[in-house]
Amino acid sequence: MAVLEIVKYGDPILHKKCKPVEDFSNVGTIVSDMFDSMYEADGIGLAANQVGINLNLFIVDVTHTEESDESYVFINSSIIESSSNKSSSSEGCLSLPNISLDIDRPDRIKLRYQNIDGDWCEDDFSGLLGRAIQHENDHVNGVMIIDRVSETEKIKHKTELKKLEINFNKRIKYNLERKESPL
Ligand SMILES: [Zn+2]
Repeated sequence: MAVLEIVKYGDPILHKKCKPVEDFSNVGTIVSDMFDSMYEADGIGLAANQVGINLNLFIVDVTHTEESDESYVFINSSIIESSSNKSSSSEGCLSLPNISLDIDRPDRIKLRYQNIDGDWCEDDFSGLLGRAIQHENDHVNGVMIIDRVSETEKIKHKTELKKLEINFNKRIKYNLERKESPL
């Protein structure tokens, strides 16, 4: 079991599109560490860049329980259809602690992705699972919930966002002093 540290807002890895997974030989280990990290943080979804890994890969389990058989892995995903019906719901993010935002999303999507064996799949998702998948699919494209709200809404969270940016810069400085790579 390896619990990885969750990367927070301010780290550039969260703000750029992830690289496609081409080599599936290490995916099993990455996924297993990501599930450990997600359950530890009590999240329902986690993208690879949220643990500092620049790969188009995310996991979802909306049940919150490690024993569930409803854990999903999505690799090299893209949304190929979205319903015109949308709804708004409050979302949080492990990379944006203490912030929740109302996000408008399509009720149903069709996702094309590769599974852990590298096979291509296409499936429809809706409800909380569909929403969690859209949230994580945004992450691997470098988009966070804060990027999906109006400027007015963003300004309301200015203080928390600034704090997260300062923390990230402090960490870089600390790592540089220790002569370690910050990223
Ligand atoms: Zn998130």
